[in-house]
Amino acid sequence: MGKIVAIANQKGGVGKTTTAVNLSASLVQEGKKVLLVDIDPQGNTTSGIGINKGDVDECIYNVLVESRDAEELILPTPMEGLSILPSTIQLAGAEIELVSTISREIRLKQALDPLRDTYDYMIIDCPPSLGLLTLNSLSAADSVLIPVQCEYYAMEGLSQLLNTVRLVQKHLNHDLYIEGVLLTMLDARTNLGIQVIDEVKKYFKEKVFETIIPRNVRLGEAPSHGESVVTYDPRSRGAQVYADLAKEVISHG
Ligand code: ADP
Ligand code: MG
Repeated sequence: MGKIVAIANQKGGVGKTTTAVNLSASLVQEGKKVLLVDIDPQGNTTSGIGINKGDVDECIYNVLVESRDAEELILPTPMEGLSILPSTIQLAGAEIELVSTISREIRLKQALDPLRDTYDYMIIDCPPSLGLLTLNSLSAADSVLIPVQCEYYAMEGLSQLLNTVRLVQKHLNHDLYIEGVLLTMLDARTNLGIQVIDEVKKYFKEKVFETIIPRNVRLGEAPSHGESVVTYDPRSRGAQVYADLAKEVISHG
């Protein structure tokens, strides 16, 4: 039975997309079959994994709004074992179009549940908001992985996110749990990073992943080559830490 993990934080630029792409590719390296689900209208995951968005006719928008069969819209990526349900800017309209739709919060769940036999993991890259697209993701997911950037104000907005998780648990998805909090973009040269680690660990305790993602130039470069860091520079620190994260996620069962 495949597992569905949503990567969520309504803050932009905290490493959601970087984590979605590189965790997925690292899970593939561990022999898993993985579907990346891009539910951000910006489509950074889609282009970052080597899909030309101009070539995408139908995307996750058509799944959510028109109930198209997800299986028919899934594309292969240049990495064997990794597939993607792509997003295009058309998805930007879905948030409003879905409002008057029946079962609007569980559209993604309905689309992904039948794929659990096909994939070991489905990794959902959420948009930077707590709107209907993120609600769909949290309703569909078994667990949520929360990237937190090691910077001043790191914890800002997290209580809102946790409230949303609790609301989803109460009304839409009783079994949703927190896979882990992932510290990202650590600059080991500053004391601030260490302070943030302490603060986040104090609050989330054993929910914090042991793996911490440092700032790594290769992680920033890889998307412009349409690759994960796993293939772009397998020996980089970025590739190593995401391999560690994949092992941790697998060890959670
Ligand atoms: P989000 O999806 O949460 O908006 P991204 O994953 O797109 O965040 O990251 C924001 C920016 O920071 C991107 O340009 C990305 O390439 C870069 N980035 C993310 N993580 C790292 C890292 N560990 N080291 C260096 N650059 C990173
Ligand atoms: Mg993103």
